[in-house]
Amino acid sequence: MSTANIPNLSHLWMPFTANRQFKEHPRLLVKAKGMYYTTAEGKQILDGTSGLWCVNAGHGRQEIVDAISRQAAEMDYAPSFQIGHPNSFLAATAVAGLMPEGLDRIFFTNSGSESVDTALKIALAYHRARGEGQRTRLIGRERGYHGVGFGGISVGGIAPNRKAFSSSLIPGVDHLPHTHDLSKNANSRGQPAWGAHLADELERLVALHDASTIAAVIVEPLAGSTGVLVPPKGYLEKLRAITEKHGILLIFDEVITGFGRLGAPTASSFFGVTPDLITLAKGVSNAAVPAGAVAVKRDVHDTIVGATANGIEFFHGYTYSGHPLATAAILATLDIYAREKLFERAQKLSTQFEQAAHQLEAAPHVVDVRNLGLVAGIELESRKGAPGARVAEAFAKCMDKGVMVRYTGETIAVSPPLIIEEGQIAELFGTIADALKTIA
Ligand code: PLP
Repeated sequence: MSTANIPNLSHLWMPFTANRQFKEHPRLLVKAKGMYYTTAEGKQILDGTSGLWCVNAGHGRQEIVDAISRQAAEMDYAPSFQIGHPNSFLAATAVAGLMPEGLDRIFFTNSGSESVDTALKIALAYHRARGEGQRTRLIGRERGYHGVGFGGISVGGIAPNRKAFSSSLIPGVDHLPHTHDLSKNANSRGQPAWGAHLADELERLVALHDASTIAAVIVEPLAGSTGVLVPPKGYLEKLRAITEKHGILLIFDEVITGFGRLGAPTASSFFGVTPDLITLAKGVSNAAVPAGAVAVKRDVHDTIVGATANGIEFFHGYTYSGHPLATAAILATLDIYAREKLFERAQKLSTQFEQAAHQLEAAPHVVDVRNLGLVAGIELESRKGAPGARVAEAFAKCMDKGVMVRYTGETIAVSPPLIIEEGQIAELFGTIADALKTIA
């Protein structure tokens, strides 16, 4: 892109971005098709991260484009309160069909953050409806990321997210310890063997606060945004057993893991552990239109809806819940996943993906490689006195070499669209290896 074509960059306050640095060295994408982005300079970039973990079916899918444009021409918008439109019901049925048995009541949102706040409210409303309104405490986990709403940052476990708003976090929240320990789990292939006992910390929190005050526990079954933390074997099973024993709802935040990332419709079905609520977003619409959802156990839904004799049962909702364009995109997206068997494809590719990822154990600066399904984290040794600098350079070098990865903390995260070809998996990890060789 010639400088004449660069728009005025000063007005946009970019999210989660080093604005000053970006505006000095802007990186603009202008097109996307299949596995590739095209930059403003006309360069092809292999998408190693499905955008922001969301374009699971690959870019520019014609069926989704057609569905959105048909819907925009036919009916742009319909109110979501007290009035419906057929596609929102059809989309809810389609999403329910991919959820674990029993989680078949679907509340639509527009993002992962909204899904999280919705799920937390449902948990509180549920206990209130069953006469245990004193159950208000929420339990998250260190290094959890649950979006940016006040609910999400309160249960989330990312210090900078919480620090700036510390006085405004919702009260009555506690946190489980995270499960990341390189002295025990470095270079695990798939689920680490060590760490299931960390779920027992929940018993400690129950003893401290008393179960009668606790509404819900929320965790990502596999934490993505804080550096790809794979749950130790048996850990999620323990969380489920302890929450069930104490009448505490278990919420899995599957904003990243939903829709095929692990080679199954959900991480819940991949691990065989069924929570009470699942938060979704990203892959639900292939990111073509912002969309999110909460899948809720029928009993939880029925308890809330049944507790009100007349009128609105749950005081919550968004102008754009089940927006016509979003539901058109959801229907077309889920159709592609099914027709092209993309979740099975991800599962089949995961062995080659794991092998390619773990070849990076030998690359310079690498202290850990971890993986599951089509997601991998490559953790680098922090540069003395400059935390995060090395991984940022690795990211920039990969971009220069035509591959887009993400980084968070000291970890490179890789999570390509599920349509990736075997040769592209090799290219992806090969480029990271080459990039690491060029940095100090
Ligand atoms: N929950 C998880 C697990 C996420 O990974 C994210 C985003 O990455 C969110 C919630 C927030 O989603 P959004 O950015 O759509 O609000």
